[in-house]
Amino acid sequence: MDTPGIQKLREAIREIPDFPKPGILFKDITPILADGALFTLAIDQFVEATRPLAADKIVGIDARGFLFGAAVAYKLGLGFVPVRKKGKLPYQCKSAAYALEYGEAVVEMHTDALREGEKVVLIDDLLATGGTAAAASRLIHQMGGVLLEIQFLLELSFLEGAQRLSPTPVRSFLKY
Ligand code: AMP
Repeated sequence: MDTPGIQKLREAIREIPDFPKPGILFKDITPILADGALFTLAIDQFVEATRPLAADKIVGIDARGFLFGAAVAYKLGLGFVPVRKKGKLPYQCKSAAYALEYGEAVVEMHTDALREGEKVVLIDDLLATGGTAAAASRLIHQMGGVLLEIQFLLELSFLEGAQRLSPTPVRSFLKY
């Protein structure tokens, strides 16, 4: 059962059929971003879940993970680390590839972004198959980071992405 706050967030999400390609029902979160009260409500979900974990840093996934992750980092006074699509980060990077429906994609993190033993919460907007978050998790582990939890605003539960991310705890605030 949704709380009234979560219900408001659910009502604001716009569904766009066949974007970016046929067969995908795209969950558009921009109406949440555009509404101050809803954006605050969304950030507060992440903040209240993250605060007790006593993380050292927030890692956000390109690009919508930055919108939520950076706000959470600011609110909790933590550092923020971007995981970006290949070719966007200017300094030395570690890379992780993951499979797409056709071909593969690569995400990168700066080699000095995390210190050995730093405790991290990974944030993105939406969990689908879990491929992107799994690749970001590998980067965090390669860097010696301790991944406490992965958080999403939305989860497409029928794709079973959380199983792919196991044993890392996964938390999502709106399940479909
Ligand atoms: P995946 O790696 O399959 O878990 O896909 C997750 C990434 O793709 C996230 O960064 C999402 O922003 C994006 N994504 C996947 N499916 C959707 C969808 N139906 N609506 C909006 N974004 C999606």
